[in-house]
Amino acid sequence: MAKRDYYEVLGVTKSAAADEIKKAYRKLAIKYHPDKNPDNPEAEDKFKEAAEAYEVLSNPEKKQRYDQFGHQGVGGAGGFGGGGMNMDDIFSQFGDIFGGGGGGGFGSFFGGGGGGRRTKKGTNLRVKMKLTLAEIANGVEKKIKVKRHLIADGVTFKSCSACQGSGQVKKVVNTMLGQMVSASTCGVCGGSGQIVDKKPADADARGLIVKEEVISINIPGGVAEGMQLSMSGKGNEIPGGVAGDLLIVIEEIEDKVLQRDGNNVIFDLYVSFVDAALGASIEVPTIEGKVKIKIDQGTQSGKMLRLKGKGIKDINGYTKGDQLIMVNVWTPTHLSREEKEALEALRDSENFKPDPGNSEKSFFDKMKEFF
Ligand SMILES: [Zn+2]
Repeated sequence: MAKRDYYEVLGVTKSAAADEIKKAYRKLAIKYHPDKNPDNPEAEDKFKEAAEAYEVLSNPEKKQRYDQFGHQGVGGAGGFGGGGMNMDDIFSQFGDIFGGGGGGGFGSFFGGGGGGRRTKKGTNLRVKMKLTLAEIANGVEKKIKVKRHLIADGVTFKSCSACQGSGQVKKVVNTMLGQMVSASTCGVCGGSGQIVDKKPADADARGLIVKEEVISINIPGGVAEGMQLSMSGKGNEIPGGVAGDLLIVIEEIEDKVLQRDGNNVIFDLYVSFVDAALGASIEVPTIEGKVKIKIDQGTQSGKMLRLKGKGIKDINGYTKGDQLIMVNVWTPTHLSREEKEALEALRDSENFKPDPGNSEKSFFDKMKEFF
């Protein structure tokens, strides 16, 4: 199914202010909230869709990436990254949307026992990963060291007496919609409903230890700067809940000779005036090493050559970009007396007079053909 435009999902325009976006989301969240629409998968999808749209459009950095690159820019491609929020993520947004402490209050908004729906989730870990063009082109397996909070071996838990194990404490609050019972996260157990009973000496009060782990990640080909991959459950563990995620933010290392343009790479080739006139076989760098290419006799400056399939894998499919070689004819800037004389002798030759109208297309026509 094609992803809907986030602005369309929230029913706002691109120029909508942060406040307007928030209001639009609030309306949809209330309309499609699972407590109001039990056993209605369509409503649940709408609810998730709106939450995902809000998650992006409420974050200035993500919004900018989305405006520029669409869903791909915010990791919505190929099932990686931000796409497809789970209910925990969504409920954790609500603290921000509906005011009130940490989202717990939302469940009671409709008088339903929404609190029981939530599972606590450990915090996410975020690492930056620098990749070379070659690694991006074909994908790569990387090993990274991360320090995770893990539940210590031998730790045991008992039910929290402050909240009777529910993780939430209820209180009556006055809101603009009248008096309501608000549930908030239990301060004693932090919402997990359980507290540490016995623990080894090196664990902290929550029964956690910090452990360095080596995690291996398969980076798919075609990732781009700023994309975020997510490894579910590889973040911090939390007692009585599920582990957070490990988020990997991609950074591209700029290549010294090859320039990325989407899935294509561009190489600026300089050939001598003599090679351009007589033709030559010239070595050029590609992502996979050097290859020889043929420069035809009479090649003009600005000609583009294409090495098919020598570009970058598409992140969504099996196609691959090309390498485009832009030929620049180098005019000598220093000449010996003999060279000057030789060229002087050719100055008036008919063959040396430019005649662009004849066969050569303009630079812009060629660009149109290539992209
Ligand atoms: Zn408690």
